[in-house]
Amino acid sequence: RICLRKNIPYARPLFTESFYRLLSTRPERKLQDKVALITGGASGIGRAAATTFINNGAKVIIADIDQQHGRETVKELGPNATFVTCDVTKESDISSAVDFAVSEYKQLDIMYNNAGIPCKTPPSIVDLDLESFDKVMDINVRGVMVGIKHAARVMIPRGTGSILCTASVTGVIGGMAQHTYSVSKFAVIGIVKSLASELCRHGIRINCISPIAIPTPFVMNEMNQIYPHLESERLVEIVRNVGVLKGANCEPSDVANAALYLASDDARYVNGHNLVVDGGFTSFKSLEFPAPNQVQ
Ligand code: NAD
Repeated sequence: RICLRKNIPYARPLFTESFYRLLSTRPERKLQDKVALITGGASGIGRAAATTFINNGAKVIIADIDQQHGRETVKELGPNATFVTCDVTKESDISSAVDFAVSEYKQLDIMYNNAGIPCKTPPSIVDLDLESFDKVMDINVRGVMVGIKHAARVMIPRGTGSILCTASVTGVIGGMAQHTYSVSKFAVIGIVKSLASELCRHGIRINCISPIAIPTPFVMNEMNQIYPHLESERLVEIVRNVGVLKGANCEPSDVANAALYLASDDARYVNGHNLVVDGGFTSFKSLEFPAPNQVQ
């Protein structure tokens, strides 16, 4: 017979045996009763993270500029999802979203700064368009800084919290995207490393995730502009072919699983880290020597 009260050999169990058996077969919920705020949660990676977090017991606030997809997403995700309109370029929007988390759920455990946009600047630095440079930096870099600022405001007094950001493999090695976007993602990884040095003193962890290309709306819109003559299946195939790991494609759920790990206590001693989700792409460059009979 199961007995929860240690050292009391004859104490009666609180519930029936079958109740405890049921508990032990339930899948582990790694974010039980945690509260998470996800920017850019109405689509792609952010939406996948919201789904995974909720499946693991969290309450999720989706903060996005896109009201229509935000509302549709929370409808699909059920009562543990809430939507707030938030443009990450407006500090007051982020501040209000964080305050909403605290007033609605009493706490903020996880802040996932995920919203980001691509850049349409031409590939050469000579043609750099500073207006679009400023726009990309406003969302991809300043929006992340502000998100961390307001999450820290409510996490520091509690002495706990996990902050995540979506960076990119284009912020790990140069030449994989247009300069502006690539620079913005190098900055996100730098932000995480710099802020970890301060936030660690308050028991707050901050990490980022760097995915390889995934055919989300963000990437597909870009691809459509570059290759307007191609069908979307072909465009997806081109994006997928960037990956190097045979037999697998990078999906939003792969990034969501990395986010779940970093947000949860499984990563309780992981801080200031950039977790690449790229099938090994940034870890090596294959050298292809010519065959011996081709060399004189
Ligand atoms: P997505 O287009 O599916 O989702 C981006 C979301 O961000 C959208 O819901 C959009 O409405 C929201 N957003 C845009 N501007 C915003 C703003 N000012 N305020 C609030 N929300 C805003 O794209 P995704 O691929 O899921 O992108 C999410 C993150 O992942 C981005 O930071 C992107 O840079 C990064 N990323 C994507 C890839 C990829 O290949 N898809 C690879 C590496 C990194």
